[in-house]
Amino acid sequence: MQTYKNEFTNGEITVTYQPKKCIHAEYCAKGLSDVFRTSVIPWIDLEGAATEKVIAQVKKCPSGALSFCYNQEMAVVK
Ligand code: SF4
Repeated sequence: MQTYKNEFTNGEITVTYQPKKCIHAEYCAKGLSDVFRTSVIPWIDLEGAATEKVIAQVKKCPSGALSFCYNQEMAVVK
């Protein structure tokens, strides 16, 4: 898993965390603790669950601090 600041990717999706928006409701850690880990760095490990489960959990974030996008294959033009 590659990590750039508050962006985390598993190659399929990229999850972005905006700490200023986080209200620390901990829905993420309680709902999917193998991915959203409160005491480990990096705190988001996208290898901890299937992509669909990560997406479902990100959508439950009440503050919008978590968001995701699908990684796009780069088109090779010859
Ligand atoms: S669910 Fe969202 S608001 Fe709650 S702790 Fe996680 S990132 Fe922060």
